[in-house]
Amino acid sequence: MDLNHLKNNLNSTPAYVFDENIISSNIAELVNLRNNSDCQVLYSVKALPLEQVLNLVKPALDGFSVSSLFEARIAKETSTEKNSIHITSPGLRDHEFKEITELCSHISFNSITQSLRLQKTNKQASLGLRLNPKLSFAKDQRFDPCRPFSKLGIALDSLTDIPKEIEGIHFHTVFSNTDYLPLEKTIHLLEQQFGAQLKQLKWLNMGGGYLYPQINNQQPFIDLVKRLKSQYGLEIFIEPGKAVVGNAGFLVTSVIDCFISDGKNIAVLDTSVNHNPEVFEYQKSPHLLQTEKQGNGHPYLLVGSSCLAGDIFGEYTFKNQLKIGDRLVFSNVGAYSLIKANRFNGYNLPDVYWLDKHHKVSLIKHNDYQDYRQQW
Ligand SMILES: *Cc1c(COP(=O)(O)O)cnc(C)c1O
Repeated sequence: MDLNHLKNNLNSTPAYVFDENIISSNIAELVNLRNNSDCQVLYSVKALPLEQVLNLVKPALDGFSVSSLFEARIAKETSTEKNSIHITSPGLRDHEFKEITELCSHISFNSITQSLRLQKTNKQASLGLRLNPKLSFAKDQRFDPCRPFSKLGIALDSLTDIPKEIEGIHFHTVFSNTDYLPLEKTIHLLEQQFGAQLKQLKWLNMGGGYLYPQINNQQPFIDLVKRLKSQYGLEIFIEPGKAVVGNAGFLVTSVIDCFISDGKNIAVLDTSVNHNPEVFEYQKSPHLLQTEKQGNGHPYLLVGSSCLAGDIFGEYTFKNQLKIGDRLVFSNVGAYSLIKANRFNGYNLPDVYWLDKHHKVSLIKHNDYQDYRQQW
């Protein structure tokens, strides 16, 4: 799809555009991986709970992974009978738990205290434990589930016997990883700790965090899953989020002011980091379509329109000077973007467009003043 053409035909900016063909191709890659390894693939709803995405996932993958009651409800509403719904969260609430056990097929408790408090309320879900192997792979502690004093999961080395009511184990330790080394190391530790005890379990959920479709050599994954299945008789689940929608989302924005500050060209956009908060959280510039190599054109600092001084997307170079009304497209912003977007400063949320498989573009979500008013 020619996004250049598309961006000039959108009726409004700022706008998120989600490309069905890219999502379908990611799903097809995951289906391949599933077929080659005989694992089951769940979509992690928190990355982008957009109905259109859930409807694409429903018939193709094996279900959903959720982190809260609301996510469990939206997953259940779009599920078929044969879809699994897995939940794990440090935030399970006592008063919501009965409903959660009715919505979710698999529950992985985040702590021993959580499991002792809640498991007696369970009737039908298969119960598991989220374990933390304490193997750090992320450089930034804020995004490392295995950081010191982590709140995410039970320390693997603190658990010598798997309680008899527990049927599964869950772990999730990486983010945007493009090789399977962390997975192999984690499984090695798990086997060291439990050995043949793993045979008493029914399932193992290996979390998300890998960009599966972008990994060239799938053989290590396939071999690992096949071995775990044959050696211990386990059902194996993975639950990617970003791998399904990350590269399928685009943020289209317009330049609304240009000026020079301390000798640098500044271009103000009609969006802000509040529409994609991870830009600020990670201090990472999102990829912009159509920029020149540095030194080859006109450099600009692209900034958001909020009052926050650090509301900056980054420095980008353009062939021509930018002018008011120019439209720019950030790519690879499909995951953890729209779901975290907010109306700080009273600026409206971006519109949402769906680019369907025939390249037809339609507006699927528009907010207005009444939505803002109602929120407050
Ligand atoms: C966030 C999360 C996922 C999905 O992670 P991605 O990086 O989007 O693949 C899966 N499982 C758990 C427990 C998570 O917290």
